[in-house]
Amino acid sequence: GAPKPSNFLRQVIERDLEQGTYAGRHWSGHPADGAQQKAGPADPARIRTRFPPEPNGYLHVGHAKSICLNFGLAQDYQGICHLRFDDTNPEKEEQEYVDGIKDAVHWLGYGWDANGITHLYQASDYFDFMYRAAEYLVEAGFAYVDEQTPEEMRVNRGDFGRPGVDSPFRSRSIEENLQRLRDMRDGKLPDGSAVLRARIDMASPNINMRDPTIYRIKHAEHHNTGSKWCIYPMYTFAHPIEDALENITHSICTLEFEDQRPFYDWLLDRLAEGGLINTPHPRQYEFARLNLTYVLTSKRKLKQLVDQGHVSGWDDPRMPTIVGMRRRGYTPESLRLFADRIGVSKADSWIDYSTLEIALRDDLDPKAARAMAVLDPVKMVVTNWDELMGAGHLDPCSAPVHPHDPSRGRRDFMFGRELWVERTDYEDTPPKGFFRLFPGNKVRMKYGHVIECVGATRDASGAVTEIQARLVPDTKSGTPGADAVKVKGNITWVGVADGVKAEVRMYDRLFSVPQPGAGDRDFLEELNPDSLKLVTAYVEPSLGKAHGDEKFQFERHGYFVADRKDHAAGKPVFNRVTGLKDSFGK
Ligand code: ATP
Ligand code: MG
Ligand code: MG
Repeated sequence: GAPKPSNFLRQVIERDLEQGTYAGRHWSGHPADGAQQKAGPADPARIRTRFPPEPNGYLHVGHAKSICLNFGLAQDYQGICHLRFDDTNPEKEEQEYVDGIKDAVHWLGYGWDANGITHLYQASDYFDFMYRAAEYLVEAGFAYVDEQTPEEMRVNRGDFGRPGVDSPFRSRSIEENLQRLRDMRDGKLPDGSAVLRARIDMASPNINMRDPTIYRIKHAEHHNTGSKWCIYPMYTFAHPIEDALENITHSICTLEFEDQRPFYDWLLDRLAEGGLINTPHPRQYEFARLNLTYVLTSKRKLKQLVDQGHVSGWDDPRMPTIVGMRRRGYTPESLRLFADRIGVSKADSWIDYSTLEIALRDDLDPKAARAMAVLDPVKMVVTNWDELMGAGHLDPCSAPVHPHDPSRGRRDFMFGRELWVERTDYEDTPPKGFFRLFPGNKVRMKYGHVIECVGATRDASGAVTEIQARLVPDTKSGTPGADAVKVKGNITWVGVADGVKAEVRMYDRLFSVPQPGAGDRDFLEELNPDSLKLVTAYVEPSLGKAHGDEKFQFERHGYFVADRKDHAAGKPVFNRVTGLKDSFGK
């Protein structure tokens, strides 16, 4: 494709490659619990990025941005991207989430084993090393065991206007600290009674540098390490170490970690001095997270929607999860295109949802087969059909599968005495500019014949139950002289004889406001009550052969996909992906 536009991350990477920042990285260093061996000693000059999800939910569109960014940079610069499960929290193993994350990354187009350039990692493999690093910090005077109460610790940490106050435990001897750390490790202390803290600077203007906690006690089983540990590293301590052990070069994260960068560097500098990690160590770079209008990008809130039954599951087609979007009809190409188009920046902003839909349409338009479907069907009877064509006669019609690609062939369907048309295509008295069905008006039934509308029958409630029309002879599309009768309306239709009944799920945005839950509002109160409408439609016979996940453009209506889960031969189910034009938020 076209060369990607530059951005601050590309500039940093290009500079590092040019200067050989990591080319001379010292690789012999530490016994990193197999991590380094896994990463492989080959070609230290390559850049290494990583995508480190916590397996506590399904990935969403924000993660998709981060995946495309990290894997994409590695790809573009012949580097390597690690998929690393950040599983340092002793939480219940959620194999479902681990599998879901692997699936999502694969589906987006990135592998970690097939092409041999990426590997799979889990942070909990490094617990031994992390503990060793903690003892090293204690021995070097850079960490101490604090036994203040959590409340004392909070108060003594100070805040922006007020420097912190040293803990009375800060001046313990190295021997005593080491003993207390081992007591913590050996299960002699209860949860919450002590923590290991880095000894940095209680007066730092950056609160994250005021002796941050690096280990806490938690008597809990871990899915990977079982009951081996009752102390677990804090994320801010674990993360830089994971990066260093995997020989990451550029550790790219979202802006909320900017204030953590000084600690990231402090910690890795100390460990490098101690000869525990390779040098030069990785560097952290921050970019603005993706905020998308009408969309929640918080796993916790998305989980709440699932748990409380507001949606049918993580893969509900209204969900901004990768599984949900996939089921809605998004393609990997469209998400990568979207990620490229929004780029990366250092400033927080909101991306309009239409940007995502435009990328999707741009991807689907040249690919999706065309088809006719009637979503709000009412029967039209051609009253002079038997007389002109013969009773029971069906007249074969056809249309290109794709208007710009004749090589894809044609789709066939039958014109007959009875046709399904859209209820909204009929008016007794036409409003200004209405050229479709009204008494006395001639229109072309697309790819078929011209008809003249006669009138309609209504039931007691006033609803149209049947439309009547008369065939205009010698007007069939594609036959000589077919265009002699000029019409302004072109009507999509499906034959009653060969049309296929289908369930169509008309999805709309899940929230009715652009920033759900902003400003302390309850996002649950802002759910769009009309985000799903089920309709019984008739679709042309070619759609009866659709396979799950196949995408179509229903002429005049937009893009639709055969539902991956529920669509089956004999029971077609289509999801509306998006309209033909941008109507979002209007
Ligand atoms: P959430 O708040 O939804 O749980 P998270 O950041 O806690 O998200 P992780 O599993 O830790 O979830 O995320 C893995 C990676 O994805 C992180 O590196 C994070 O920076 C990135 N990421 C998460 N949300 C977004 C977003 N909205 N835009 C860009 N990147 C994101
Ligand atoms: Mg996280
Ligand atoms: Mg989170």
